[in-house]
Amino acid sequence: MAERGLRSWVEVSRSRLAANFRAVRELVGPAVEVMPVVKADAYRHGAVEVSRVLEAEGARWLAVSSVEEGVALRQAGIQARILVMAGLLPSEREALLEFALTPALHSLDEVAALDRLGASRNTRLPYHLKIDTGLGRLGARALASHIVEAVGAARNAELEGLMTHFASAAFYDTEQTAEQIANFEKIHHSLSRAGLAPHYRHLAATIPIAYGRRESWGNMVRPGHAIYGYVSPVRGPAPPRQLNVKPVLTWKATVLEVKDLPAGTPVGYGAMFRTRRPTRMAVLAVGYADGLPHRLSNRGHVIAAGRKAPILGAISMDLTSIDATDCPELRPGDPVTLIGEECGEKIDAQQIARTAGTISYAVLCGISVRVRRIYV
Ligand SMILES: *Cc1c(COP(=O)(O)O)cnc(C)c1O
Repeated sequence: MAERGLRSWVEVSRSRLAANFRAVRELVGPAVEVMPVVKADAYRHGAVEVSRVLEAEGARWLAVSSVEEGVALRQAGIQARILVMAGLLPSEREALLEFALTPALHSLDEVAALDRLGASRNTRLPYHLKIDTGLGRLGARALASHIVEAVGAARNAELEGLMTHFASAAFYDTEQTAEQIANFEKIHHSLSRAGLAPHYRHLAATIPIAYGRRESWGNMVRPGHAIYGYVSPVRGPAPPRQLNVKPVLTWKATVLEVKDLPAGTPVGYGAMFRTRRPTRMAVLAVGYADGLPHRLSNRGHVIAAGRKAPILGAISMDLTSIDATDCPELRPGDPVTLIGEECGEKIDAQQIARTAGTISYAVLCGISVRVRRIYV
């Protein structure tokens, strides 16, 4: 599978993507709609291609962050319903109609503004209302009675979904998630009593799905990370994990040069590393400009010729050096694996994140646009 001629590239497995989506569907069952999250270019897996695969697997909803991301999917021919989750700029409202995007609204003022837009076009526009049940970020923070009043008053904007997002889903040692669910239920109950019950209720992203927090599933879930094959570790007394998914993305880079250095040779910027033994060093065509975290300098590993090989010295913008002493067959032009599996050795975004002091989401989203994506 060596992609000769590329410095660094990712391979995205369509079959694993489809399998992860199916695994989520099977876990939540047919009564719960699965809305995969393909924001941020599908966590750098490529939103258009990922959406095509998921749509072909039967996804009827997709979630993005911005209108711009939604428009790109429509222009690529994606037909599924698209929820725009991370806020609208006033100038973007028109595009909702033109591209049939469904907004998550975050305040009662926004409900009124959408209502006016619908009235001006003589149409009813669906929206999902996101309520801030305790995350303390985007979302309406209003009394249930005010929400009921604003939703009921909007004649040309239709409440199709009620949603919220958890702050501490990974922390089973706090009550915050339970409190957020209770706050959500209270508002949902008030809306229902007023005859305004929305068709969809959704709260859960990957972790509450994977750990089976069923009371948060409503009738729709929003998995992102799980779709790409990751479930972050949790803290505290969590039940066993119920979801089995596998990483979809493999990241590779090409060896540019292999050379032998005597013991005591400084390697790279700042001489952060000095060889302790005669060392065969390989220089890779990848650096922090490709998204390899600089914090892996002198700490991370890659898989070269089927064996773990340590990163030597500072990662630079376009180049990274590794110790290939134990990989004597490695040659210029060979691919090495930054994320993925070779001969039973495995490195995933979670491990990189731990070593680099960040989170796996940021490792995936950090893979830069100059790293070509190949779908396999
Ligand atoms: C990103 C996001 C998700 C998906 O989160 P994962 O942890 O990747 O599953 C779900 N809902 C909202 C509101 C999000 O912003």
